[in-house]
Amino acid sequence: MKKITFLISCLVITLIASAQKKIQPNILVIISDDHAYQAISAYGKNSLMQTPSIDRIANEGALFTKAYVNNSLCGPSRAAFLSGKFSHANGFKDNVVSNFNFNQDIFVKGLQTAGYQTAWVGKMHLGDSIPQGFDYYNILPGQGQYYNPDLIETGNVKKNYTGYISDVITNISENWLDQRDKSKPFCLVIGHKATHRNWMPDIQDLGKFDNINFKLPDNFYDDYSTRAAAQVQDMTIEKTLRIKQDLKMFDSKEELQNWWDYKRMTPEQREAFSAYYDKIYADFKQRNLKGKALTEWKYQRYLKDYLATAASLDRNIGHVLDYIDKNDLTKNTIVVYMSDQGFYMGEHGWFDKRFMYEESYRTPMVMRYPGVIKPGTKINDMIMNVDLAPTFLQIAGAPIYKNIHGQSFLPRLQNKKYQSRDAIYYHYYENGEHAVSPHFGVKTKRYKLIRFYNKVESWELFDLQTDPQEMKNIYGAKGTEKITADLKSRLLSFINEYKDEEAKTIFNKKI
Ligand code: CA
Repeated sequence: MKKITFLISCLVITLIASAQKKIQPNILVIISDDHAYQAISAYGKNSLMQTPSIDRIANEGALFTKAYVNNSLCGPSRAAFLSGKFSHANGFKDNVVSNFNFNQDIFVKGLQTAGYQTAWVGKMHLGDSIPQGFDYYNILPGQGQYYNPDLIETGNVKKNYTGYISDVITNISENWLDQRDKSKPFCLVIGHKATHRNWMPDIQDLGKFDNINFKLPDNFYDDYSTRAAAQVQDMTIEKTLRIKQDLKMFDSKEELQNWWDYKRMTPEQREAFSAYYDKIYADFKQRNLKGKALTEWKYQRYLKDYLATAASLDRNIGHVLDYIDKNDLTKNTIVVYMSDQGFYMGEHGWFDKRFMYEESYRTPMVMRYPGVIKPGTKINDMIMNVDLAPTFLQIAGAPIYKNIHGQSFLPRLQNKKYQSRDAIYYHYYENGEHAVSPHFGVKTKRYKLIRFYNKVESWELFDLQTDPQEMKNIYGAKGTEKITADLKSRLLSFINEYKDEEAKTIFNKKI
């Protein structure tokens, strides 16, 4: 009897000890660029293409149906992801003048203190500052190049790599995983360039979607009535999308040879690239398209190149998932896949991002967390990119630093008590390329209120339930007085809570 009691005591002690020992899971975050949820099959049957690797993460974990960004632009979104703060607080407001200040609190520093090894490989796009908080980095200068890219490694060493960018980034990432200190948990961010403009597919993916005729979005020929900022933007497929650099239709061999992206290629890459696009160019010239026929041809070519570029992205995500499996890391590694923001696939006649409208405000996000997230989970709560930093810190058992704007959604994943957001904030600043007027706003489950300023001074109000495509601005319409007042009050409370002084001044300005 004594022996049994002794054995039971030993077992209890062991169980308590193992429960007390914090298991710090590895954290792998894959961030793509400008990847639209309309092109991810986990988001539904209407997807423009199949994305088996991203779908695998969603099926084995969770699909976030309402993940949003603070500021729909490459650098500012990554700065918010790292800091857990909106742009005015982390200082990185736009891609034109900003350089990220790495002296501030960012979640990777907290993870390092908690015993993690940290790394960022690929696109970071935070200016020229030397990254801090990473034991290893190997990043693209600025936007980087699709073919034979240069990367800057820890210690500011620039090297050139032969190959297609998604493969190069995956190789470097997996090499780092091979060489890391295996006695510590890791946090690795893989930053992909795909699917950023100018959508240059990998050679093996050229023509992958050529036999598909894509349906135009219902609002492709939007006339922008009731929306002043949309009337002055410069991001339409019709006018802004370039026949040459974007769609690769060069009028002569000489013109092509002088093109920066072509010059970077190896002779073999050039040959394959030309063999594909020369045929399309010959057909294009012969047809001599004009007006709507030309615009719709541009739309088809845009989608074909964009989706072929996304094919390499999904394949490379699959490669890393296989690596995780082969190296027995699956059970103890969280995998997050997300884009830095959403993107227009012809909705409103556009490509690009920036606006607080759904296609660019919302971002794709999936997450696998074995033992915590039940496979096949759908998370319909409004989650923001600023929420990832506090979530990772909490997962690692590290303290969450002061003045962070994000809130951890770990309790939501664990099905514990969780206060879901009933509204979210947004602030876009860049006043340059694509002529999108700066704006800030608030979104609730049903409504969205936006204040444009600088270029255009106007308010917009949308009822997302009756107008999900955001075609009819009902600001000032009869019957919207109460909801407008409620939303303004909600917006002002965000401005005060986040201390966004610039927005406060504009909010108080009468127009
Ligand atoms: Ca981007």
